[in-house]
Amino acid sequence: MIKLTTRFFALFVIFTCFEVISKTPTAKVQTKSFAELPAKLEVYKKAVFSTYDLKLLPNLKALEQEAKALDNKKVQAEAMLLIALLQRLYGDYRESLILKQGALDIAIELAEPAFLINVYLSIIRLELSLERNKQAAEKMQSIDILINQLPKNSHLISRVYLWKARLFFAQESYLQASYIIDEALKKENMSKKVYIDLLIEKVKVKLKLGKFGIAQELLNQINQVNQGSQIQHTQLVIKVLQAEAYLQAGMFAKAILMAQDGLQSTFHTRFLEEQAQLQYTLASSFAQIQDYQWAHLYLKRYAFTQKALDLQKRNNKLLQLEARFDFDQQRQQLSLLEKDNALKEQKITQQMQAIENTALLQQRVILIVVLLFTLLFFMYWRWQNKRTLKMLEQQVAQRTQELAIRNKQLQALSYTDSLTGAYNRHFLFTHIDEYLPTEILTESTIMCLIDIDFFKRVNDTYGHSAGDTVLKSFVTVLKQTIRQNDVIIRWGGEEFLLLMPNISRDSAAEILERIRVNIETYEFIDNDINIPITASFGFTSYPLHRSVALLDWEQTIELADVCLYMSKNGGRNAWVGVTEANIENTLSAEEIVNGTKQLIEQGKLKVISNREDILSTVIN
Ligand code: GH3
Ligand code: MG
Ligand code: MG
Repeated sequence: MIKLTTRFFALFVIFTCFEVISKTPTAKVQTKSFAELPAKLEVYKKAVFSTYDLKLLPNLKALEQEAKALDNKKVQAEAMLLIALLQRLYGDYRESLILKQGALDIAIELAEPAFLINVYLSIIRLELSLERNKQAAEKMQSIDILINQLPKNSHLISRVYLWKARLFFAQESYLQASYIIDEALKKENMSKKVYIDLLIEKVKVKLKLGKFGIAQELLNQINQVNQGSQIQHTQLVIKVLQAEAYLQAGMFAKAILMAQDGLQSTFHTRFLEEQAQLQYTLASSFAQIQDYQWAHLYLKRYAFTQKALDLQKRNNKLLQLEARFDFDQQRQQLSLLEKDNALKEQKITQQMQAIENTALLQQRVILIVVLLFTLLFFMYWRWQNKRTLKMLEQQVAQRTQELAIRNKQLQALSYTDSLTGAYNRHFLFTHIDEYLPTEILTESTIMCLIDIDFFKRVNDTYGHSAGDTVLKSFVTVLKQTIRQNDVIIRWGGEEFLLLMPNISRDSAAEILERIRVNIETYEFIDNDINIPITASFGFTSYPLHRSVALLDWEQTIELADVCLYMSKNGGRNAWVGVTEANIENTLSAEEIVNGTKQLIEQGKLKVISNREDILSTVIN
């Protein structure tokens, strides 16, 4: 009857939910749906905890989707937890774990300590059924941190204590489990279910510790509290424990009856653990009353159930292993990939390095080539420069030489008389020093003026051109006769000055006589006409006096002119020379030049001539 009512209720709930969900939500309805979500969740919650019916799954999933669509995260997470609970109960641990993880993510996001603790507790439930005590203990630590944020009278605290007790129980720390249960039972504000669950845990602990008497008392207490409860699983657990308590107490018949009753209610359910426990209790009880046939039968059934349980767990463990294997493999592949990547990266770096090196080498080669070219160009430029410089220097040298020659030529020209080729007066004034004696005491220079006789007549008779020819030939004759160091200067029109350095008076007379004769005898020819020419000479020696500076060179020439006059006056074609003086230095040059004749007469000047008549005229 109860079962029927329960099923009817469940169906009603499902139908209602289906009705609610199948109504297409509009914008307005959506708001309504959002507000209705928690209520709907409560309905499902009750249905799940009372029946653990797998048929609730589609509705729960729909609720989860609806909550997700309406962005009610809390309802979504709670729906996920309910789905996970059913999945776990029907052996799909993996899916259950995934869902709980999802719920945990949402809970962390929502940051509500109470809800977060609920999710952790739900995960602990799963971990414990997977015999993963360590992971469960870790979650419990997270709860311990959160629990301080709860109000002191929160009913959640007793639930946490309940799960702590279950964790200790799983870890076989029965005394600790017992202690924590007692602590929890002191708390207020706990739900009836939690209270019963705590008592159940206490029974379990006591039975483990062999205190079946206390266990029995507790069971009686539980039965009183649980009166009228619809929770199938709790009822079953109570039966399991009751049977165990009877067994321990040696009340085998009662144990068998209780166990069989319990076993009845496990049929068509997935409460395999309780089923196995009951079968084991039955086998033990039958063995105690020596009904080995039944004992054997239940032991066999127990073995089957246990096998199914093991299979379920093994499957689950296999899945875990698989997942782990997958993870390891992925990790391995990842590390291989990482290594490969690192290798590729290294290769790329090496290639880049190689490219960089090549580029660097190219740059260096280009730089060296450029430098070499620059150097070559510089060397070529220097060589070219030097060549040009040398060429210029050569040209300059050549030009300088040419210029020097020209200068010399010009100078020579400036010193030369253009008609006769003899030196001119300009030469004399420039070079006179070279012809004057360096040693006055021992050396002397003869300065002789030569004038062609009656030259005017030559011009007049034979023409000016013939006169020119005569002048040229005259110089030629002079040059033929004089010494190499002697010099001829054209002094005036047909008058020449002959300088004979470093010569004795006797030698001078000799040379002058020879010149006179040569001129006289030379055939001056112009236009096949022989022109007879003679010349007159007047000369002086410089210095005139060995110790007294009487005359300078110009005054000496003036005195020579006086002598020339004497020659002319004496009939021409003659030479007269004043060669020595015996004069006091009180006489001036003027007195000497103007009073030559008197001085000669006084014997103060020594005079020589080729003509005796002239000498006698002068002296007398
Ligand atoms: P003397 O014996 O007294 O010296 O008589 P002279 O005719 O030679 O003397 P004078 O001084 O009277 O005449 C000189 C002449 O020489 C006058 C002049 O025309 C001539 N003469 C001067 N220079 C040149 C010249 O370069 N060429 C020619 N053909 N004649 C010249
Ligand atoms: Mg003259
Ligand atoms: Mg003359």
